[in-house]
Amino acid sequence: MELEQQLSRAAAVIKNAEVIIITAGAGMGVDSGLPDFRGDHGFWNAYPMYRHLGLSFVQAANPEHFERNPAFGWGFYGHRTNLYRQTVPHEGFNILKKWIAGLGLDHFVVTSNVDGQFQKAGFSDESILEVHGSIHHLQCLSPCSDLIWDNREEVPVDFDTMRAGHIPKCVKCGGVARPNILMFGDFSWLSIRTRGQERGFDEFMTDHAGKRLVVIELGAGTAIPTIRYMGERMAVSDRATLIRINPREAQSPPGQISISAGAMEGLKMINIEVDRLKAEG
Ligand SMILES: [Zn+2]
Repeated sequence: MELEQQLSRAAAVIKNAEVIIITAGAGMGVDSGLPDFRGDHGFWNAYPMYRHLGLSFVQAANPEHFERNPAFGWGFYGHRTNLYRQTVPHEGFNILKKWIAGLGLDHFVVTSNVDGQFQKAGFSDESILEVHGSIHHLQCLSPCSDLIWDNREEVPVDFDTMRAGHIPKCVKCGGVARPNILMFGDFSWLSIRTRGQERGFDEFMTDHAGKRLVVIELGAGTAIPTIRYMGERMAVSDRATLIRINPREAQSPPGQISISAGAMEGLKMINIEVDRLKAEG
């Protein structure tokens, strides 16, 4: 199907929907200027120091650094915390909010991103499932308890050495704290916060069973396909449609909508069609 047909079909589905599920992967952050860690070069362009050390994203995003060298572990996560705090969510977030308010849609967000950008854009905590956790929450490294608390730490990072100037401490035992994010090779991530969000999402889906539903998937790649599978599973129902927006991997199951574009660009293009439909009444 041509792009124009996909866009007008997407707009019609959104306008007729009662419920919108927004699912997002790493591609959602790129348009806000956040680095894409896909491939060693993407990661190394964002963090040249790790190129010198020959450390890939998978190797850097590993809890073992917090054990062996907390200043080094916090170098990567402290830098990312600061970056995500400074980032302004792109216009695509506002388009989604406008549809929710203007079309009276019930909504839920499911994201594999740990950057907290949906909250920053004004989406409420109760309507978000962060499947890999959040950098804005901390836990004990050991962990000594199930406690998860807000990350209010200021962690200055020397970008030349990727060493942190301050190590956040566990509020209970005083040991090293770490972000409440599922890392690679991670056996000590506390999943209770995410499990609570999952229960909220399951209840939402039960409460909205049988309603006309649209899943809009933004920048979720095939490398870690959790988000893609979720949308595909939901779209099996004949009252649900998946709109997949992806610049490189937009292919979608038969009958679903596939838009080959970046997240913000795709949302802007659909929004023009939504506005046109609304003007037509
Ligand atoms: Zn502790």
